[in-house]
Amino acid sequence: MQMKSYWLDTSPPFVSASDALPEGKCDVLVVGGGITGSAAALALARKGARVVVCEAGIVGGAASGRNGGMCNNGFAQDYAALSQRLGRECADRLYRAFDAGVDTVERLVREEAIDCSFARYGKLKLAAKPAHYDRLARSHALLAAGVDPHTRLLSRAQLREELGTDHYHGALLMEKSAGMHVGRYVRGLAQAAQRRGACYLEHNPVLGLQRQAGAYVVRTSLGTLRAGQVLLASGISQVGPFGWIRRRIVPVGAFLIVTAPLPPALMAQLLPTARMCTDTRNFVNYFRATPDHRLLFGGRARFAASNPRSDARSGEILHRQMLSVFPMLADLPIEYCWGGMVDMTADRLPRAGQRDGLFYSMGYSGHGTHMATLMGTMMADIMEGRADLNPWKDFPWPAIPGHFGKPWFLPFVGAWYRLKDRLQ
Ligand SMILES: Cc1cc2nc3c(=O)[nH]c(=O)nc-3n(C[C@H](O)[C@H](O)[C@H](O)COP(=O)(O)OP(=O)(O)OC[C@H]3O[C@@H](n4cnc5c(N)ncnc54)[C@H](O)[C@@H]3O)c2cc1C
Repeated sequence: MQMKSYWLDTSPPFVSASDALPEGKCDVLVVGGGITGSAAALALARKGARVVVCEAGIVGGAASGRNGGMCNNGFAQDYAALSQRLGRECADRLYRAFDAGVDTVERLVREEAIDCSFARYGKLKLAAKPAHYDRLARSHALLAAGVDPHTRLLSRAQLREELGTDHYHGALLMEKSAGMHVGRYVRGLAQAAQRRGACYLEHNPVLGLQRQAGAYVVRTSLGTLRAGQVLLASGISQVGPFGWIRRRIVPVGAFLIVTAPLPPALMAQLLPTARMCTDTRNFVNYFRATPDHRLLFGGRARFAASNPRSDARSGEILHRQMLSVFPMLADLPIEYCWGGMVDMTADRLPRAGQRDGLFYSMGYSGHGTHMATLMGTMMADIMEGRADLNPWKDFPWPAIPGHFGKPWFLPFVGAWYRLKDRLQ
């Protein structure tokens, strides 16, 4: 078994055309070469800006190349509950922003000819308990009559046509959701930005930022550069002078395993409609087929950080969970296991904007493949003065009480969610 991201292992590497900082001042310096940073770099370069992307590791090496490759429209949380909390008008506006995220991925894949198997497979939100089905039914009634007629409620019997297991109690089908090979996507996005003139410097963390005469002096490990504007597309960044952000984002581990390729007949039995699947638990499980017919099975497994030991332990838990859903896979080897850190906010909604002259976009809370694409693209306009476009502009972002950068409280949050999963 390989302890690395299947997506990064099965996509052509990104090849940077530069190994030194460019001469003179750049228009925009982007911190981070994930989906947010590369979507922004592409949009900015298309506008003719001189863009430099500084990436601490490799392009797509963090969450962007380590996720489930699902572009699921809708929210991480229950639509009915969120629209009650935010008001229907606001919830629908945000819902449309997630739809626009999937549309933006689809458009960029087409325009930049990114070969990443993007397709609108649809998503099944699977009821893990009978009561969860009732909750899905309430959300469906509101969605179907309003913001998303492309949704269907499937009873347990109807679900049989979509899934080769009796593990779940029905589902909400969201037809606009998509899936892709996210390694090929994030690297393709960066390659497209580079083709259009963006300069990428990998293994080059931003270590310091200073404002000077209307510009930023940016200290990186390769030297110092002047930039007119700076965009933080740095996810859960643990490097650099970003304490303000670290007090607002909670890095939460998430883990994945990928099986050996399945015989076509067995795959057709398990996932005949090839949907993206996720369940309703807080300790969520999600699964899908990869483009080369393996089963990817992921989840929170435990509230823990991702590191090689933790990934291996979580992989064992996920394997047991996978077999409880699909016992017929008992003899199928697991070929990949890895983990990553999800950039969670307290309310599981993203944040983007400007603070003290610095622009930022992050906190996608597990719904980032498409929202990072939308926000990266949109930041190019927001940085030109179009703050009105920003769907998250009215959302305050207070620091999380007691959070100083290391999430010491995660085991307690984990225990609370485990209890909730048991009781609800
Ligand atoms: C295991 C897992 C599964 C997930 N599954 C899904 C899914 O199926 N669907 C979905 O929509 N979302 C999913 N997500 C969330 C999604 O992957 C993220 O929201 C999205 O990739 C965030 O992109 P980003 O570019 O903002 O951040 P990242 O991909 O984290 O990129 C930030 C980059 O900034 C760099 N950086 C940080 N600090 C510095 C610095 N000081 N200097 C230079 N560079 C720096 C980092 O090295 C990193 O490469 C998942 C996430 C994880 C971890």
